[in-house]
This record gives sequence, C-alpha cells and structure tokens, in this order.
Amino acid sequence: MYDKLFEPMKIGTMEVKNRLVVPAMSTLTATPEGASTEQLIAYHERKAKGGWGLIITEYFGVAPNVGFFPKMLGIWNDELIESHKELTRRVHTAGAKIAAQISHSGRETFIGVSDENLVAPSPYRDVSGEKNPRELTVDEIKKIVGLYGDTARNLKKAGFDAVEIYAAHGYLISEFLSKYANKRTDEYGGCLENRMRFLLEIVADVKAKVGKDFPVMVRLSTVEYVPGGLSMGETRVIAKKLEEAGVDAIDCSQGIFTVSHNIVEPMMLDNCVFVDNSAEIKKVVNIPVITAGRINEACLAESVLEAGKADFIGMGRASLADPDFPIKVKEGRLEDIRYCIGCVQGCIGGNMRGENCHCLVNPEMDREYELPENPAETPKTVWIAGGGVAGCEAAIVAANRGHHVVLFEKSDRLGGTWLIAALPPHKTELLTFVGWQKHELKKLGVDIRYNTELTKEMVQEGHPDAVIIATGCKPFIPPIPGSDKPHVIQANDILTQKKKAGENVVVMGGGSVGVETAEFLSWYGSEVTIVEMLDDILIGCERETMLMHRKAIKDENMKVYKGAKVCEIGDDTVTIEKKGKKIVLEDVDTVVVAAGSKPVNTLEPELSEIGVPVKVIGDSKKVRNGLAAIYEGYMAGYE
Ligand code: SF4
Repeated sequence: MYDKLFEPMKIGTMEVKNRLVVPAMSTLTATPEGASTEQLIAYHERKAKGGWGLIITEYFGVAPNVGFFPKMLGIWNDELIESHKELTRRVHTAGAKIAAQISHSGRETFIGVSDENLVAPSPYRDVSGEKNPRELTVDEIKKIVGLYGDTARNLKKAGFDAVEIYAAHGYLISEFLSKYANKRTDEYGGCLENRMRFLLEIVADVKAKVGKDFPVMVRLSTVEYVPGGLSMGETRVIAKKLEEAGVDAIDCSQGIFTVSHNIVEPMMLDNCVFVDNSAEIKKVVNIPVITAGRINEACLAESVLEAGKADFIGMGRASLADPDFPIKVKEGRLEDIRYCIGCVQGCIGGNMRGENCHCLVNPEMDREYELPENPAETPKTVWIAGGGVAGCEAAIVAANRGHHVVLFEKSDRLGGTWLIAALPPHKTELLTFVGWQKHELKKLGVDIRYNTELTKEMVQEGHPDAVIIATGCKPFIPPIPGSDKPHVIQANDILTQKKKAGENVVVMGGGSVGVETAEFLSWYGSEVTIVEMLDDILIGCERETMLMHRKAIKDENMKVYKGAKVCEIGDDTVTIEKKGKKIVLEDVDTVVVAAGSKPVNTLEPELSEIGVPVKVIGDSKKVRNGLAAIYEGYMAGYE
C-alpha cells in the first residue's frame, strides 16, 4: 500500500532499508560530560525496533559547551567514544542505521555556564539573543573547521554509519551562510562564494578525516524566513556546491531560532508545509534529499515521494508520538497509529523549559528505560470517573497491565473538554488522539458506561479496588458588575456554537483559550478586542504556538489591552482599568469570557469517607495543559 516508503535507498555507501528518517531532536538526556546514557540509548533503540530506516541523533558539539541547550552529546575523548559505541551497537542490533549530527551553536550557544563560546561571524546578536557574540578571527575559524573533522572521525570510530553537518537553524555554520548574520568583509563574508567558504572547508576537513566512502550529509535551512536571510535562490547554489564537494545527501529544513515555528511547526501550520523547498533542492542535485515539516501520516509521506519532492521523509515528532509508526504502516495497522498533533507542549516545549523532551500523546517517550513490566502482579478492579483524555489514558494503561477497568462517562461521548479544545481554527488534529484512545479502549475491551456519573453509592455497592477521578474542570465567570447580562457568553459556548457573537466583541482573557476564541470569532467576521489582566497575553503558551497566535492577532487587526482589568460590563460598553486609568470600550455587542476554569471534584471527599483508595488526576486535580493531564492519567493507570 505504501510501497515507496519501504523502498530501500542508498545515501553514499549506506543502504537505508526504507525512506523513514528520524531527524535530529534534542532529548537533553546525555550526561553533563556528553556521554550516552541508558535513557538515551533506550530511546533510540525503541525507535530502531519500531522500524525506522535511519535515525539521526541530536547534535554532538564539536567541543564542550557549544550547544544551544546546556546538555549535549560530545565525543572529544576515548571515554566518550566508548560510551557511544553501546548506542550504535544497540541501534544496529535493532535493525536501523544511525547517523550523528555535528554542531557548534555559534551566537545561539547557551551562556549559562560561560560565554566564551558565544561566537559568530560578526559581533551581532539575533533579536531573540541576550548577549552579543564575539566575532571569530580567521585563525579561530580554521581551528573550528578542524574540530568538525575531528568530531566526525571519532563518530566513525564509535560505529556511526554517517555524519550530518548541522548547517541550519541559525547556528554557527548557517550564520556564516546567511546575510542575516554574516556582516564580514574578509574571505568569509560578503558574496555567497565567501559565505559558503566555512561550510565547504568543514566538508573538506570532515571528508579528509573520515575517508571518501563514509557518508556525509548536510542539514540546511533552505529558506530562513527572516529579512535578508537565506532564500531559495542562494540555497540552490549551496546544495549544488555541496554535491560537488562530495556530500552524500542534503537534509532540508528551514527557519532560524527567532522564527522557530518554521523549524518545529505547531498545529496551525499545514501538513507538508515546506516540502516544496526540498523539491527545489531536488531539482538541482542528484544526491538524495531529505524533507521534513509536519509530515505525520503515511499517506502524506508517500505522496511526497510519489510527487518526487524528496527521497527521504524526516518524521521527527511522528516518531516521538509513535515509535512503531513504520511497523504499523508496513503491517497495514493504520488505526493503531498514535499521531503527533503538533501541540509542541512536550517535545520542544519540554526542551525550552530545560526539561527532557517528552511527548503529550506518548507519555512513555523518554521513559523507555524505566518502564515497569507488563502485566501487573495483582490484577485489580479499577473504576475511573470521567472519560476525558486523562481518564481514557488511565483506562488504557491500567487495562494494558491486566487490570479490570470500568470507565464512567456522564455524557454520551469520550474526549471531555478536549473535544471543545479542538474546535478553534487549525486545532482539529487534536481529535486524532481521541480517535486513537477510543480505538485502544475498544481493542482492550474496556467496559465503558456512557451517560453514567459515578457516585459514592455505586462505589459502595461495587467495591472497586481503586478509583481514579478524572472529572475535569468547568469554566467560570468572574463576579464583575454586569457579568450576568445576556450578552456575556462563555468561550466554550462560542466554540461549540451554542451561542452566537455579534460584530463587535470583547474577549475577557488573553490566555490560550481567549486568543483561540478570538481567532475563531475573527474568522467568522467579528471585530475583536482582547483584554488581559496580566502584563502579557499567552503566558505559558509554547513559543512556536505563541508566534503563530501573535501573527494571527496582527493579521486580523485585533486590539489587545494588556495589564488591564475589566471593571464593569454595560449594555453596550465594557469599562476597563489600565495603569489606574479608566477606558470605556463602546458599541460592544458581545462579551466573551475566557477567564479560566476550576477543577470539578466532588467525588474525592465522599470516597475518602468510605476508605476507598482514590487518585485524582488531570484538570480535576488542578487545571493545567494537556501534557500534564495525560501524563497523570498514564501514571495513575500504572500505579
Ligand atoms: Fe507532537 Fe505534541 Fe508529541 Fe511534540 S508533544 S511530538 S508536538 S504530539
């Protein structure tokens, strides 16, 4: 069915068994010295067992402390080479090829430890940078070139099948390539021939140190999407030069950190959004081209190959969401696949919070090394109150471990507030997760009682061994004068179209729900003003998602008042207070409230009275995001 995806293909001398590639993604699970850990090895091994053809690791720094994140892999001594041999051995045993990415983060280097490596072609920081980098001298440039080659040689010794030179995303090499960052006037700056010099010297040094038969790939940002940044016109030339220099594959990405929504695309961006960039590169080179960017389904991946837009498909987050994606596709078990929903909460969101990479839909990701054995020693009867995503996750995990699970859901469907969260523009893919949970529950034969609210009396009668409470949350309207007026409407009622907004709407609350509802209303034609009490909107929202929301706010000409409190709602006015000044918003026909939600948990105190072991999870414990709710569901199921 997906024949092209499973056709083997060579990158240089390396034969890859299929076209499914895991591109480099930071896990932050190396030791502080840069060695592989059991956690990191188990994570890659799990994917190799799942059938991925080629796994590219997160970057190996060319020297200590040159990473974007405080933790990175390293291979500058024999001890480190030994630690990574176990990684390559286990990935090979599981049937995949493994390549290592090599990097210096340049002006994006993490400066928490020291800023000595905060270097760049020119002494200017990017708009998202905090400190100006130091301009590299020509001698220093030559030295760094050699470090790339040394790193590649050591990676080959550790058993890697290939290396990938990381020349994308606004790190050191791409800073040299791009007019956006490179303001030099010597032989490394100015015209494209000069800006390419650093990369081409690195390629030559790497090839000299690993031998001509060892595959070398280069990852490029094909288009940087910043003013003056790399454009396709220049990248075509770079790709061609790389092929002439003996590079064996071009791995196409795009963007730089300042516009990181182009690197790790949130759900607002279309699937396959950047494949035309790789198609342009494919037109000018004869070596394999890898593409990436929100390609999360087999049919999408196959269509990219069929259209001749790339030779390999990078499916990073799809591999986090479901490490068994290739096997499931090959065996035609598409309904078993758990799809990446583009939430960016667990993966890049985790990294940006300084945590390991996680996955919202796959709580086992990154915890492969510590998973308890299935099944449980003593099967129990577990009752779960609430069939939202947290309750369903608990039910799936508990049932998988052999417990007898009964799931009580007071409505006629599963998914809870997740179903409403999926209604704003571009969020529909959230529903694939509910679909997957329903499918798993059915496969596991979980007893689901719809239209049934679990009560204390039912527990007293049924004697379950444990009860998990996942009864979710409900939105509230703050007690503001006028908040009981008929034109004051909850955001949920707008999204579910139970109520209609007028032409001139004030949205109270600039968190994710408020902004998403504002976008929804704008799409349906309303003029929208957002009023947020805090000093900024979208606090707590992931960076990539936030960048997209801010763009939508700008594109739709919404007005935003930050640090402003709603004091009174009149018949057609809303009075707000900002910095001690009252402002009256006039001609308002609808006020939409997105001021937060409160946990719903009346059952816990009742069950505690009768001594039943109870675990409260998700929003019914504390209202947070999906990542926290699903993780708690998963843990409760295991416990
Ligand atoms: Fe995809 Fe979200 Fe998982 Fe990241 S956390 S891999 S975006 S589902």
